[in-house]
Order: sequence, then structure tokens, then C-alpha cells
Amino acid sequence: MLAVRDLSVFYGDAQALDRVSLSVGAGEIVALVGANGAGKTSLIRTVAGILKPRAGTIEFDGVAIGGLDSHRVCDLGVGQVAEGRQVFPSMTVLENLQVGGLLPRARGQAGGTLERVFRMFPRLKERAGQLAGTLSGGEQQMLAIGRCLMGAPRLIMFDEPSLGLAPAVVAEVLNTIRMLHGEGMTILLVEQNVAASLQLADRAYVLENGSIVLEGSGAALLEDPRVREAYLGL
Ligand code: ATP
Repeated sequence: MLAVRDLSVFYGDAQALDRVSLSVGAGEIVALVGANGAGKTSLIRTVAGILKPRAGTIEFDGVAIGGLDSHRVCDLGVGQVAEGRQVFPSMTVLENLQVGGLLPRARGQAGGTLERVFRMFPRLKERAGQLAGTLSGGEQQMLAIGRCLMGAPRLIMFDEPSLGLAPAVVAEVLNTIRMLHGEGMTILLVEQNVAASLQLADRAYVLENGSIVLEGSGAALLEDPRVREAYLGL
């Protein structure tokens, strides 16, 4: 569904990604693992159309999306749950969700999707009229996921969805991702909790200094001595 080939991205003269190639098949969860500064966020932001590639190609469902504006990329079905739960704090929960449903691809089905999001996250329904900024961190993360779902994505890219959340809430977020996968959603996951993300993932890539250095099934990478030493502290 997603095919990234030889992607290079720069911030001015500083290279963030160096000829990165990776793919995510329909219905897969693919994890992207790497230390701080390895380039994970840059990769997600480039696929989302927020950063422009200097070289390489990005295809989504066979359509070349590298360099397209982010609203066009979203409207093709590429959803993103950005790092830091970017909800609109001074809008209500319901308004945040409605914003997600404004994408042209989603408009016709927004009512049904809202029901589905409320079934998935009953807390959001209970708090529909509350300002998003007053929600707990975990609730804001659920809202960020719900808002993304309102755009009817076919691929969701998660950037550090459990960052800064209490352990019980982390488990809830990971369960939500597992459930979305169970429903057939295609997922690209960047998650600082490397053990949990490799357990969830069908396949994974390890990114170091802007390059892919290892790839394999989640299970194989969990057993890989280099991964165990560098990312699992074993
Ligand atoms: P983190 O987990 O810390 O978010 P990451 O793997 O997502 O790390 P990126 O944020 O993609 O890594 O950063 C990749 C490289 O690009 C790093 O060297 C970083 O310092 C640099 N970088 C990121 N954003 C910018 C920016 N706006 N301007 C200049 N350099 C940047």
C-alpha cells in the first residue's frame, strides 16, 4: 500500500534521511525503530506531505505522493496521529472530531464514523461537550486517534503514541492500535516502547542516522542481538 524508495530528506544542509526504502502492505502493522534523531519523525512527515523529499519516491496505492501537499495526501487516505497529541485545546471534543471529518473523502460518511469513534472510545462521547484542553493525556491521545479516524484513513501513521502517558494508558493506546489492526487497518508505527512495538508489528525496520540498517519480522528483530543490545537494553 505504501512504498518508499531511496528517499532522501534534508533540513537545509543537514541530511535527515539517506536513501530510505520501506514498504507497508495492506493490513500490515510495520514498526519503525530507532534512537532519538534517527529520522523517524522526518520519515512520517515526509510521507504526510509536510516535508518535501530531495530525492526518491513515495507511492500510496500506486499513486506518486512524494512532494504533494499534505491536504492532498490526507485526502488520498493517509492519516497521521502526530507526536504530542495535537488536539485543538480550545475546541470541544466533538468539534475536534468534526474537524477530522471535514476532509472531502470523509464528508459523506462523517455521521457513521462519529458513531464508530464513540463506540470505540465511550469516554469521548461522555465528554463530547468538554474542551479538549481539559482532557487527561490519555483522553487527548484517544481524541487524536478518533480525529484521525474521522478522516476515513486507509493507512494510519502513529508517531510516539504512548509518549508521556501513564503505564495503564500506554496499554490502552497499544490495545487500540491492535484493535484497529484487527479490523484490517494498515499501520506504520513509531513507538519509543521498542519491545511493545516489535511485539505488535508484523514487520519492522531499524533506522540509524537516517538510514535503514536492519529489517525483518517483529519476532525476528526481538531476537536480534543488535536490537536487544541497542534498543532493549538486554
Ligand atoms: P525523535 O524520536 O527525537 O523525534 P526521530 O527519529 O523522529 O527522533 P527526527 O526528528 O526525524 O528523528 O530527526 C532526524 C534528524 O533531523 C535529527 O538529526 C534532527 O536533529 C534533525 N531535525 C529534525 N527536525 C529538524 C528541523 N526542523 N531543522 C533542522 N534539523 C532537524
